[in-house]
Amino acid sequence: MGFFEMTKTALKTVLSRPATILYPYQPAKKTGLTRGHVAYDGSKCISCSICQKKCPSQAIVLNKEAKTWQIDRFRCVVCNSCVETCPTKCLSMDTQYTGPAAEKSVEVFTITYVKPVKPEKKDEPGQ
Ligand code: SF4
Ligand code: SF4
Repeated sequence: MGFFEMTKTALKTVLSRPATILYPYQPAKKTGLTRGHVAYDGSKCISCSICQKKCPSQAIVLNKEAKTWQIDRFRCVVCNSCVETCPTKCLSMDTQYTGPAAEKSVEVFTITYVKPVKPEKKDEPGQ
């Protein structure tokens, strides 16, 4: 009984298409939920540092004095926490995977200048 079950499973596996693809020779399948890398739009950032506080792997470092926002892509575990909590939606999850790297190059250890913007004032009722 066990032999026939094993043979059936083996034949099914041999005759079916592989579940994996030859990435990167074949493009990876992506959906709207694919997590590639965190993208940053400095024009909307208000330097609130919420992303830094919420990051579980300390991948984000905001330096308000130097006006820099940095992400260490070797530390980032692509959890999406910073994207979900950013109040101005200046962080987004790009579906493109970060390229391979052996050391911290400029492309991997991204440094972007922060341009603080003031939140829009809402008109008070009765004014
Ligand atoms: S995706 Fe997660 S691990 Fe990566 S920088 Fe954002 S909070 Fe940190
Ligand atoms: S990226 Fe978003 S959460 Fe992080 S400091 Fe800028 S505004 Fe705040």
